[in-house]
Amino acid sequence: MPPLTDTLCLHCGLCCNGVLFADVRAEAGDRSPLFADRPRVTQPCPAFSAGDCTCAIYRERPRRCRQFECRQLQGTGTGEITVAAALRRIARARRFAAKIEKSLTALGFNNLKQPLKRRFEKCQRAAEAGLLDASQHARLAGLQLAMHQLNQLLAKEFYG
Ligand code: SF4
Ligand code: SF4
Repeated sequence: MPPLTDTLCLHCGLCCNGVLFADVRAEAGDRSPLFADRPRVTQPCPAFSAGDCTCAIYRERPRRCRQFECRQLQGTGTGEITVAAALRRIARARRFAAKIEKSLTALGFNNLKQPLKRRFEKCQRAAEAGLLDASQHARLAGLQLAMHQLNQLLAKEFYG
């Protein structure tokens, strides 16, 4: 049987792609090449490949990455959550994130090097400052709802 990280993480990537976290920080003594020239890397992580949800430096990934297990990974490990249920939750979170991504891009917040929540916050601030025109308000409402739903799902089912 493949390890659970293969079964779940290779269909997920939420802790690497800027959805769960805004950055990766070096811990004391961390020798990962990710921190060769800086102690903190903004997500989406440059070592992450979105196409196949892999890490280019997996064997040398940071301590923080080795230590983090989301609730789905923990729960399937202990048997409290079935693999099928975990995969459904991962797929649901990814659908929300994709919907948010699409709306942010349509609204002009298309800096793919920034984490999702930062882009959303910029969009919110622009809306509050009256910088979005009326034709964008329906999309903004859909975006806000999707972000709320994603945050609820992440808080309940993913953060460790
Ligand atoms: S959020 Fe969980 S299932 Fe997804 S890649 Fe990270 S540890 Fe794996
Ligand atoms: S170093 Fe690898 S495991 Fe860590 S956030 Fe980047 S892609 Fe993910």
